[in-house]
Amino acid sequence: MKKIAILGSTGSIGTQTLDIVREQGDIQVVAMAAGSNISLLEAQMREFRPSLVSVWDEKKASELRTNTKDLGIKIVSGMEGLLEVSVIPESEILVTAIVGMLGIRPTIAAIKAGKKIALANKETLVTAGHIIIPLAKEYKVPILPVDSEHSAIFQSLQGAGDNKISRILLTASGGPFRGRKADELKNIQVEDALKHPNWSMGRKITIDSSTLVNKGLEVMEAKWLFDVALDQIQVVVHPQSVIHSAVEYQDGAVIAQLGTPDMRLPIQYALYYPERRNLSGRRLDLFEIADLTFEKPDTDTFRGLALAYQAMEKGGNIPTVYNAANEKAVSLFLDRKISYPEITELIEACMENAEFIDHPDVDEILGTEAAAYEFIEKKMSAK
Ligand code: NAD
Ligand code: MG
Repeated sequence: MKKIAILGSTGSIGTQTLDIVREQGDIQVVAMAAGSNISLLEAQMREFRPSLVSVWDEKKASELRTNTKDLGIKIVSGMEGLLEVSVIPESEILVTAIVGMLGIRPTIAAIKAGKKIALANKETLVTAGHIIIPLAKEYKVPILPVDSEHSAIFQSLQGAGDNKISRILLTASGGPFRGRKADELKNIQVEDALKHPNWSMGRKITIDSSTLVNKGLEVMEAKWLFDVALDQIQVVVHPQSVIHSAVEYQDGAVIAQLGTPDMRLPIQYALYYPERRNLSGRRLDLFEIADLTFEKPDTDTFRGLALAYQAMEKGGNIPTVYNAANEKAVSLFLDRKISYPEITELIEACMENAEFIDHPDVDEILGTEAAAYEFIEKKMSAK
């Protein structure tokens, strides 16, 4: 039995990870952590019988303890709980399927404990890649990408040996507002932005996909995972989401991974790498698709992607500012407190206002996050 722990078991990636566990039958989930959906978490505990569970809020944890007394499963809470799940001795792989910078400390702790990381939580690499990548090398721990584009790149690199990447072609669906101009973004409502054309995902990443901030984060994620320069990453809008991304080698050969849009494939690949297992589901039918099309991203309209490049060029803690401002702005948009264009306006304002720190350590990264949040809160109360 392969033993895994999951951070964010009740989310989109978390539940699909459990689908794989159910389908394959030779993985044991030894620990899981979730935010607030304790009824789903209870059902997962009854089905998968982990030995440790963490719930963010202590009140909810205690409610869950009462409801699951019969199971005798240890239930912990808070950041300490997340850390305990991340380093549980029995597990071999940690699936990081929580959202946001909250994943930094648990990911670092898991690497230090020698766990392989199946990484969905891209915000962690964007903000702390300069800490996490060297640490993973030091502890000889593989970081296995779960993000579909990065899994596609990783799959396209199999068998590459010492051959260097010449370019990465990072595909993007373009989101639900592809083709619109800036003045057509003003009245977008939460419901409109939550409708992704090809993928069903958590709320935050769905909004990020619509603003192209997700692609900005993914460019940064690719830079850390595959050790390439920014100008080696080309974002290609490909609305059909059939080519999940590709690698170009020095001889001009482009190797890509194609498939139906199904996150269970990259999750399963990360869990069983380098083995390929059977996976249920639809197969790619090129006759049915017929047309594959490609466009340049419109970075004048979708400023989120342009700002990501700026953040990367500045380096230091500025990617953290970009990410933190986005996390805050998206939650304000989801709470209907700001308009859609204000998401990128707030990111830009935060980036202009931020104090630069080169090589930030974890405390400085979290300090930068707090400062970005405070800046936005002040701006909101002055509104
Ligand atoms: P989601 O919102 O569906 O799920 C988030 C999970 O994190 C839930 O289980 C939630 O309970 C848990 N969580 C939230 N706050 C928590 C807290 N304080 N403590 C413990 N757990 C907490 O999100 P998702 O779409 O599954 O995305 C997860 C990560 O994977 C994100 O970083 C996202 O960018 C990345 N990702 C997702 C997809 C996708 O298809 N959903 C694809 C690529 C990458
Ligand atoms: Mg992706």
